[in-house]
Amino acid sequence: MKQFLRYLPPIHELQKHERFADIQNSLKLDQEKLTLLTQQSLNKIREQLLAGTFEKSEPTKIDFITYIFDELEKDANEYGQCFLKKVINATGTILHTNLGRARLSKEAIEHVVRIATHYSNLEYKIEQGERGSRHDIIEKVIKEVTGAEAAMVVNNNAAAVYLILRALAKDKEVIVSRGQLVEIGGSFRISSIMEESGANLIEVGTTNKTHLFDYENAISEETKMLMKVHTSNFKTIGFTKSVSTEDLIELAQKHSDIIYYEDLGSGALYDFRKHGIGDETVVDEVIKQGADIVSFSGDKLLGGPQAGIIAGKKKYIDKLKKHQLARVLRVDKLTFAALEATLVAYLKGKHKMQDIPVIRDLLVEPMVIKERAERFGSKLTGGQFKVEVREAFSQVGGGTLPDVELPTFVAEVSHERKNAETLSRELRLYSTSIITRVKYDKVLFDFRTLQDEEIEVILQALVDLA
Ligand SMILES: *Cc1c(COP(=O)(O)O)cnc(C)c1O
Repeated sequence: MKQFLRYLPPIHELQKHERFADIQNSLKLDQEKLTLLTQQSLNKIREQLLAGTFEKSEPTKIDFITYIFDELEKDANEYGQCFLKKVINATGTILHTNLGRARLSKEAIEHVVRIATHYSNLEYKIEQGERGSRHDIIEKVIKEVTGAEAAMVVNNNAAAVYLILRALAKDKEVIVSRGQLVEIGGSFRISSIMEESGANLIEVGTTNKTHLFDYENAISEETKMLMKVHTSNFKTIGFTKSVSTEDLIELAQKHSDIIYYEDLGSGALYDFRKHGIGDETVVDEVIKQGADIVSFSGDKLLGGPQAGIIAGKKKYIDKLKKHQLARVLRVDKLTFAALEATLVAYLKGKHKMQDIPVIRDLLVEPMVIKERAERFGSKLTGGQFKVEVREAFSQVGGGTLPDVELPTFVAEVSHERKNAETLSRELRLYSTSIITRVKYDKVLFDFRTLQDEEIEVILQALVDLA
């Protein structure tokens, strides 16, 4: 096909073509960028001609021009597109780690937009007209929702654990029960983070049982901290024993220089136990019991942005704030904005809290989910799809409340020709990605995590894919 190479239009001719101008105008791309992309599609044809693989056997110049601009339009459309995009989570897993954990409330999003759009008093005391500290922004509201004397925020809970160990227990001993040496999300291990921090891990007890005397016996001159880690992402059952927070605090308090620190993991500010959901300790309870320091995530059960919240006694928090690492691990104003607005919802009480998507999706009545599923089912019948609404269970996810199964309703969908794997793949690749579960060769839509407008998108997608 080499003989057709001479029909390839030169780049300067393509640049003058009206489709070049059209693409440039509609996508607002620089002339140079578009020329580069044009050159690339030109090269692609040249290679195909040399390899003899071009789609037409006797191409004309017009064919080339059409081909080049079709390719260019596709490439230019993709060029400069954001990689990060919204997806629809039809898995029912509320804190889906791969899908970004918590969704933010409308108020939190509006606050982020407001603060991002304008200048703000991030580090400025308005009354005094002086430089302020970003730690002050959120300390008051964290103190109010947790009952702690002081608080601060870092990048995530892993950072919080690291900062606390490094700043308060470096070169000293930290006692942790063997049953609590957890690994979270495949990349965060208590033992490794401890090593990285320079604190010496003293493991006590066994995998399933740790007694108070195990801690007592391990205390030495070098002991700086008793640390309790919530085994957020797994559950030991059967012949088990761990020491209560109360007993550990009492033990720590017998030694004036031993700090009691609890890594709460999820950090529930709302008591889900009242609804019979899980047995997650509420943060303010642990503070009330006298914990010196606690830390927890912002984007797990709390339902805010990624952040690590540290709360506790002022003398320790002050030390953390002054540490060099506090600057390294500090969070951006957008995180502060999202977190502050989320925490304010907690301050306002139960009614307002329901605006936080994580709380709303955790507490939604199964009957409401059923109604969504049935509405979906009734709109989908009478085509190539078969749909059945069934009772099922959703997970909380995010390594949180691992043993909790939330009663839910799912629509099981099958297509007369496509198998479930194919359908679920096509849904993933749809213009708005829809993530589903596949079970027994059916595609499952769990309506716990689906809002009305998302359900409409799914219905449209299924129509388009049929
Ligand atoms: C999730 C979790 C962490 C890590 O928190 P990130 O905010 O994801 O960094 C640390 N400790 C425990 C116990 C956890 O559950």
